[in-house]
Amino acid sequence: MIESKIAEILEQLGNKVKLIAVSKNNPPAKITEAYAAGQKVFGENKVQELCTKYEALPKDIEWHLIGHLQKNKVKYIAPFVACIHSVDSIALLETIQKEAHKNNRIIQVLLQLKVAQEEHKFGMSLDEAEHLIMHLQSNPMPNISVAGIMGMSTNTENEEIINQEFKTLRTNFEFLKKTHFAQHPEFTEISMGMSNDYPIAIANGSTMVRIGSLIFGERS
Ligand SMILES: *Cc1c(COP(=O)(O)O)cnc(C)c1O
Repeated sequence: MIESKIAEILEQLGNKVKLIAVSKNNPPAKITEAYAAGQKVFGENKVQELCTKYEALPKDIEWHLIGHLQKNKVKYIAPFVACIHSVDSIALLETIQKEAHKNNRIIQVLLQLKVAQEEHKFGMSLDEAEHLIMHLQSNPMPNISVAGIMGMSTNTENEEIINQEFKTLRTNFEFLKKTHFAQHPEFTEISMGMSNDYPIAIANGSTMVRIGSLIFGERS
């Protein structure tokens, strides 16, 4: 079941879009099943759960933190996390730099931009992201690689709204690339698209989709 779902999704993604299998709220046994089917990249949204699964599962898994991250928890994931999708403040970025340095690692991060209409969705405005980037230019952080942006669409049935929001993310990515990252070949990623909207995200240039329930079933 998990294996055939992954195969089905990978076929639609082609070779330009990376699949982050979002395993939150699912037991390690289900991750093992996906891993046996060849999936090596997994996303979690809570630090505690991510650490427990990291300890229990094969060490060649590439772990992505996709949920909101508190500064005081960065130290727990810094030894192993591959990519943090949810950077939304200078203070958080500075903490990641400090902890990555302690671990002698370079951690990939994405800048989370808010385009959805819901009040509770985390993320920066384009202005705030530019402010953060300018800070980064005057305070270099050698243990961080800013690899692109992440965003979520509004939770709605209205595909036109979702399409517009993903278009906005793409446009914001192109703008940041041109304005601030022209000399940074590593700035390439647009993390957008989940179970219910990933085809629209791919049509708008997504390079990473974060898919959970479609692979693992509805979460309890
Ligand atoms: C849970 C979650 C996903 C995956 O959601 P599904 O609808 O289960 O595919 C993707 N991104 C983030 C940030 C999430 O929290």
